[in-house]
Amino acid sequence: MRLPSFFYLCTMRDFLDNGVQYVPGVGEMRARLLEKELRIVTMRDLLWHFPYRYIDRTRVYRIGDIDENPGAAYVQFRARVTGTAFAGAGRKRRFTVFVSDPTGSAELVWFNSAKWIEKSIEVGREYMVFGKPSFFRGELSVIHPEIENMEKALSRKVESGLQGIYSTTEKLSNSLGTKGFYNIILNLWHTAADKIEETLPEEIMHRYGLIPLREALYNIHFPQSPELLRQAQYRLKFDELLGIQLNIQSQRTSRMSRRDGFLFNRVGGLFSKFYNEKLPFPLTEAQKRVVKEIRGDTVSGFQMNRLLQGDVGSGKTVVALLSMLLAADNGFQACMMAPTEILARQHFATIKRMTEGLGVNVAILTGASKARERNASMEGAADGSVHILIGTHALIEDSVRFANLGFVVIDEQHRFGVEQRARMWTKNLQPPHILVMTATPIPRTLAMTLYGDLDVSVIDQLPPGRKPIKTVHYYDSARLRLFGFMRKQIAEGRQVYVVYPLIRESESMDYKDLTDGFEALSRDFPLPEYRVAVCHGQMKPEDKEESMRQFKNGEADILVATSVIEVGVDVPNATVMVIESAERFGLSQLHQLRGRVGRGGGQSYCILMSGEKLSREARQRLDAMCETSDGFRLAELDLKLRGAGDINGTLQSGTPFDLKIANPTLDTQILQTTQQAAIDILAGDPQLSRSENAGLLRLKTQYSGEKNTDFSMIS
Ligand code: ADP
Ligand code: MG
Repeated sequence: MRLPSFFYLCTMRDFLDNGVQYVPGVGEMRARLLEKELRIVTMRDLLWHFPYRYIDRTRVYRIGDIDENPGAAYVQFRARVTGTAFAGAGRKRRFTVFVSDPTGSAELVWFNSAKWIEKSIEVGREYMVFGKPSFFRGELSVIHPEIENMEKALSRKVESGLQGIYSTTEKLSNSLGTKGFYNIILNLWHTAADKIEETLPEEIMHRYGLIPLREALYNIHFPQSPELLRQAQYRLKFDELLGIQLNIQSQRTSRMSRRDGFLFNRVGGLFSKFYNEKLPFPLTEAQKRVVKEIRGDTVSGFQMNRLLQGDVGSGKTVVALLSMLLAADNGFQACMMAPTEILARQHFATIKRMTEGLGVNVAILTGASKARERNASMEGAADGSVHILIGTHALIEDSVRFANLGFVVIDEQHRFGVEQRARMWTKNLQPPHILVMTATPIPRTLAMTLYGDLDVSVIDQLPPGRKPIKTVHYYDSARLRLFGFMRKQIAEGRQVYVVYPLIRESESMDYKDLTDGFEALSRDFPLPEYRVAVCHGQMKPEDKEESMRQFKNGEADILVATSVIEVGVDVPNATVMVIESAERFGLSQLHQLRGRVGRGGGQSYCILMSGEKLSREARQRLDAMCETSDGFRLAELDLKLRGAGDINGTLQSGTPFDLKIANPTLDTQILQTTQQAAIDILAGDPQLSRSENAGLLRLKTQYSGEKNTDFSMIS
């Protein structure tokens, strides 16, 4: 069958929904690659594949002026070819072009499939070279540069001199480099420009000083001036964040228009008895305030969606427990979901111990639960005899039913995907109150963008009597000193964590680091004097459990672990946290890990081990850790350090929306503007049914995020 011609495709509802293969210069092969590598399927996807940075193409460097710490990640220079060479064969084949100008020389390198380059390059001729400079033993080289003969380069007119650089992947770059993207997007532009429909009403554009969508899309790809580029970026970010805010604000309106929140009117025997007789310590003022806020919500008649932020060790668990007892006092069941087996077991043990003799039935259900435990917990949840059910993801399985679930606690929020959370409240006809707890502090508007419509409580105070943890940074060469220190601490009866990074759960490399480290430690800390336990994600749950148990009970002096222990583990006698390859961890993760020590009375230490060679950013992270233990300050710094380039940071990965340009952690001002804009727009037209709001309705639907079934999904 012949493919329909590009120009006959306009019959579809929206032209931009056509497949990207019909864009001149793309075709089936590249379309498949685009989908596989960048998830670009439709023309719209391609048009929304924005440059991630811009370079000044009017600037032509001299080779001698390109230094090892360039201000620009990309450079352009004119140079004459002095020779070529091949090396290697097959997949390892390498083609090198030697070039020079009066100020110096450089090598241009292509790996495999560079036949056409080999054919077209002429020794003695001058070319314009464009690419990312790298240095090897002080010699400049450029891998897979773009080259053009001078005639062509000089004839090319770049309006403002600004050229977008497109993200591509290794597999794709052979077929589509940044120039390739420029070309196909230009082709797309010629055919699709007049099919772009405006999303915003005239009035809104005017009020917020926004340029039209079409102009914005043109300038984001082909900036006519730095000012127009800025306006284009602003407009496109505005659209994305407004799309999200329209959804959140209408969720909120509909939640606030229903008065179907469970009522916890009674402060009954369980809550009072626990508070007066069982609580082992007085609550901090911050904890009291949050408990009050939750009580306020649960007697309001509205369903609660509350995010509780509190630094590591600030005592969120007991707040959750008090709330769950409040639910029980009012005849409702509660459940608490933790991100790991270990943490769920620990919560279960703590809560069971704290509620001993109170007459509440606490149960546990995890993926590792044996049939007996599983059946008992599931039956108890279904017949209402279990008051508090603690568990992992296992709780969201459809087979888990509750007689009357009134309160849900989700601990360490950022570990859960939005979809998983959403399934929790489909367990009732009426949505339970939700308390989400996290140690990652984020502003409310941002939190809403990530988690939907919710209110925020903060525990901004640590329990009294905590000694600040001493944090130091050692290079790997100081390992002997580290070992000496560990021996001393162990001799004093203390316990030590040694943590290895685990970047990707599947990477066996990471486990190799850990197992090598474990073996080395076992040599340096031999039995019977020292007992070393190991715990990582690839072990069987029973074995993990056993290691954790040994460490908790003081039967092991050292626990070697991956970052599985990051979240929530509570062993007060452990006073030393050694973090191996600390430069590979993010700031908030380092802070979380450090929070594992300093829980008992003893002076605690956090020792960050790293190699000698550190990037500037890694050094800043480690320095920050040594300087402060304030989680809020570290979180702020983390955002700054990660900067705009890293859209895939931990916070971002929590967002259910596919954002192309806005970064809610950085574009806070636009976030606030669009929040107010959404409120105003919906106040005038709640359903967006007016004809002038048709574009807004499309925008809202586009950012409803099929994945984003958030807190108020049940009507
Ligand atoms: P996180 O907020 O990190 O989850 P936890 O709830 O695990 O913190 O509490 C950390 C430790 O502090 C626990 O051992 C807990 O018993 C203790 N704790 C909590 N609140 C107080 C308090 N008000 N006074 C003293 N210790 C407290
Ligand atoms: Mg906790």
